[in-house]
Amino acid sequence: MKIILNERNYVTEILSDKSSEIKKISSFLRLYARYLYHEKGLRKTGIKKELDAFMRNRQPGYRPADWQDTFERYAAGAGKYPLCNCDGIRVTKKELDTIQQLQNKVLERLAFTLLCLAKFGNFKNPENHNWVTCSNSEIYSMACITASAFEKDRKLSVLKDLGLIAYAKKVNSLSLQVLFLEEESAPALWISDFRKLGYEWNLYKGEPYIRCASCGILVKRDSNRKKYCKDCAKISTAHSKFLWDMEHRNAKSEF
Ligand SMILES: [Zn+2]
Repeated sequence: MKIILNERNYVTEILSDKSSEIKKISSFLRLYARYLYHEKGLRKTGIKKELDAFMRNRQPGYRPADWQDTFERYAAGAGKYPLCNCDGIRVTKKELDTIQQLQNKVLERLAFTLLCLAKFGNFKNPENHNWVTCSNSEIYSMACITASAFEKDRKLSVLKDLGLIAYAKKVNSLSLQVLFLEEESAPALWISDFRKLGYEWNLYKGEPYIRCASCGILVKRDSNRKKYCKDCAKISTAHSKFLWDMEHRNAKSEF
């Protein structure tokens, strides 16, 4: 699951960039249906028509018959939740100080990630009261921490013992509440991208990172020439090679 802060902008970007890669097409269609409902004022028939048009344009091998039930479902549920249009969350001075006091890089990234998630939860629902409902693996992936399941639990319980978080066991899921929010303190950091929260923390601590010139994701700067993340560099190299081949072919054919 990818956390999208601003759903309206996300959909607009996908629509305007035909080459953009959509990792999970069904999640995107569900969101697109909500966008069409809330932003374009469409209702059931109109939404289904647009979902179909999108698939015809963008999904090679699309078979309309396979998707009718799905479109029906997405169109029916489109009006249920408004779009989430969050531009970012604000972290305060006291919150940063609390995290720094951990004096452990991995725990700091974990605490920072949980803090950002709690704040985003509060933005989406003012009655959220600092709860985080993501799974452990989602949290650790955003925190940019690799650890065994045992280690994941252990690190969380360290934060719990320090009084930074609390648990609540519900029927099938584990929720956790972040206890160190200090909204009244001075604003110190603005976070508008949740893809690599752990790296956002490292960047704040002064480690060298760049934002990919194409997709904006944070990546470690291991050379001064680095401009792109791994995925975008591949596309960029393929594109340059294509241009070079074209030029070369044209030059040859002039003789
Ligand atoms: Zn990139």
